[in-house]
Amino acid sequence: VTENAPCVDCGGEHAATFLGENGPLCDTCFDARISAATGYPRLPAAPGPVTFTGPDGRAHRMRLRLVRNPGGIAAEAVEEPGGDADSGYRLEVLGPHGADPHTLLDTLTQHLEREIATLYLTPSPLTGDWSVAGTQVAGRLSEDEHGESGVVIDGRRLSWEQFGRALGPLDGWEFRICFGPHEPA
Ligand SMILES: [Zn+2]
Repeated sequence: VTENAPCVDCGGEHAATFLGENGPLCDTCFDARISAATGYPRLPAAPGPVTFTGPDGRAHRMRLRLVRNPGGIAAEAVEEPGGDADSGYRLEVLGPHGADPHTLLDTLTQHLEREIATLYLTPSPLTGDWSVAGTQVAGRLSEDEHGESGVVIDGRRLSWEQFGRALGPLDGWEFRICFGPHEPA
């Protein structure tokens, strides 16, 4: 399902959620159905996109979402354009069902500011390939539209081969991999 299919309830864009057979639904119509079915209060509409500019001058226009999941409320930021998962920044903050959505959005915004202000990769002066800037790398695992797995770091998609080359300066180092939300250093 692409994000281009309109919401089946309102015809709106950014409809990507299915509720059983019903969908795609936009976040607002999804929340209306969840609220009606569960009695949870309606979530406010997420504010419009916000743009953050990284230290390299690239502007990142982030679309904000508020979605009630079975486990609680998710405030999510997805870079536009870029559709779903293949590149661009994508961050999420989770809270319990009773969380204040505005507090979640504030926390998400702070994470976005810190994350976009941190560049983990730098172009290698020798080869022009991406190379680690320090001793820490954060991002996410991501399959592209062809099912090819890779990573997204600094909002950029790298193949495993490119990522392996980027780690070249750390050859011989010990390492530890932790999965999950992270705090930039
Ligand atoms: Zn809708």
